[in-house]
Amino acid sequence: MTTEKANKKIKRKDQTLASVLNDVGNTLQFMADAGCRGFECDASHHDMVHNWGDHGLDRPESLSDIRRELKDCRRCGLSSKRTQIVFGDGCEQARLVFVGEGPGYEEDKQGKPFVGAAGKLLNRILEAMHLSREDIYICNIVKCRPPNNRNPKPEEISTCVPFLERQIRAIKPEFICALGKFAAQTLLQAEKPISRLRGQFHEYQGIPVMPTYHPAYLLRNPGSKRDVWNDMQQLMKRLGL
Ligand code: URA
Repeated sequence: MTTEKANKKIKRKDQTLASVLNDVGNTLQFMADAGCRGFECDASHHDMVHNWGDHGLDRPESLSDIRRELKDCRRCGLSSKRTQIVFGDGCEQARLVFVGEGPGYEEDKQGKPFVGAAGKLLNRILEAMHLSREDIYICNIVKCRPPNNRNPKPEEISTCVPFLERQIRAIKPEFICALGKFAAQTLLQAEKPISRLRGQFHEYQGIPVMPTYHPAYLLRNPGSKRDVWNDMQQLMKRLGL
């Protein structure tokens, strides 16, 4: 090979490398714009990245697209003990999304969030806010009931949360209310106790988040209802209710 030919070959290789690096840069920018805050190597994150911006449709992803992709989810150990997935319920165009911890006994049986005792209290809170279940959307940090209502484990949360994030992105609510420690700490990537997070607005992907006590906690600690009402009044003010 002549020197001239060899130089041309090297130049072509350099151009290919520059083009690949450019593609990698663009992909990283796309992911950052889509809300990616880091990389995980487990299967659920691989699925999420693989499917980003590619749900096969020329329109934004809808809740039913996400539900369809979830299928009969077996991505974490909670799936072996659940009766059914509790995906979420309510209005796809909701201005306000409530996020709880995970389904309990009744939710697991009925396939809907907040239909047990805590749900009845949440309905009363909504009524006091001049809202109904049809006005809002409710979902949970994990979509399957942890056995005996134990706390969800970090790996169960990290497997399930990408779907919650996509639900929130599909709904585009104006506000989020995080019910209890798990919802607040997960959405806000915070470690502070709920008693320190509640009472003021925080932010999740540019959406104002009001953390408050979980209704199940209120059933055990009715003295904290005053704090929750205070938090709901702040939300009502911002919603113009
Ligand atoms: N508690 C939750 O956190 N979520 C439900 O759906 C029911 C009870």
